[in-house]
Amino acid sequence: MKILMIVVIMAMFQEAEPFINRLGLQKIVSNLDKQLPIEVFKGKVNESDVVLIVNGKDKRFGVDNVGTQPATLSTYLAINNFNPDLLMNAGTAGGFHAKGADIGDVYIGSDFIRFHDRRIPIPGFKEYGVGSYKVPDFDQFATDLGLKKGIISTGNSLDIIPKDLEMIKANEAVIKDMEAAAIAWVAELYNIPLITLKSITDLVDSKKPTQDEFMKNLSLASENLQKKLIAAINFCAGKTINEIIDRA
Ligand code: SAH
Repeated sequence: MKILMIVVIMAMFQEAEPFINRLGLQKIVSNLDKQLPIEVFKGKVNESDVVLIVNGKDKRFGVDNVGTQPATLSTYLAINNFNPDLLMNAGTAGGFHAKGADIGDVYIGSDFIRFHDRRIPIPGFKEYGVGSYKVPDFDQFATDLGLKKGIISTGNSLDIIPKDLEMIKANEAVIKDMEAAAIAWVAELYNIPLITLKSITDLVDSKKPTQDEFMKNLSLASENLQKKLIAAINFCAGKTINEIIDRA
């Protein structure tokens, strides 16, 4: 089956803006759910429809709806409304310099996507908390597009406490974000392939405060993200999933 409907989920408008502009996506009046601030944009690449979902602003706090709950909601609604052949989650993230990450690098999530702040030390629940959603083998795809590969770990905080760091290390993660594992959970429930692209705004293992680095590097990272995201969409549009995933 060909990939003819691609849905891209992004948390922040600033992350999405260069992508919207470059692809000339049009904002549509969304009938997803009137109660939710989710924004929907539409466009076309080759023969594929491309729908971008941005989580919108919190009604009370006026800031972007980052984190796992909005990501879960918008992924569920996107799947129900647009029936995607392929899901993509694109955004910014923290990276570990010791594991090869630099500011502005764009990574594709590989191997597994995991949670680092759902600690439930009861047999069975422990593994459920970490999630470990399997990512298909995108080696050739990553090489062709010049993407670095790494395990993503998701939690609901931008900063980091020692326990999170311990979990991220146990998760063997190179990338730290706030949405990917939530999206991966919904994608797994509906058996829809997910490609995760993350552009590095800050280095988790540097001395500089994460929020300062994030703000300083957000536009560079979003620009780099846009380039790889469009290349990825061009690569996938009209192909079958089997043509994208490596065969053993
Ligand atoms: N201060 C920012 C807050 C954005 S939260 C603002 O007001 O604009 C950070 C967003 O970028 C989340 O969507 C998350 O997925 C990603 N992110 C970037 N760096 C991160 C890090 N070091 N840890 C976790 N998430 C990070």
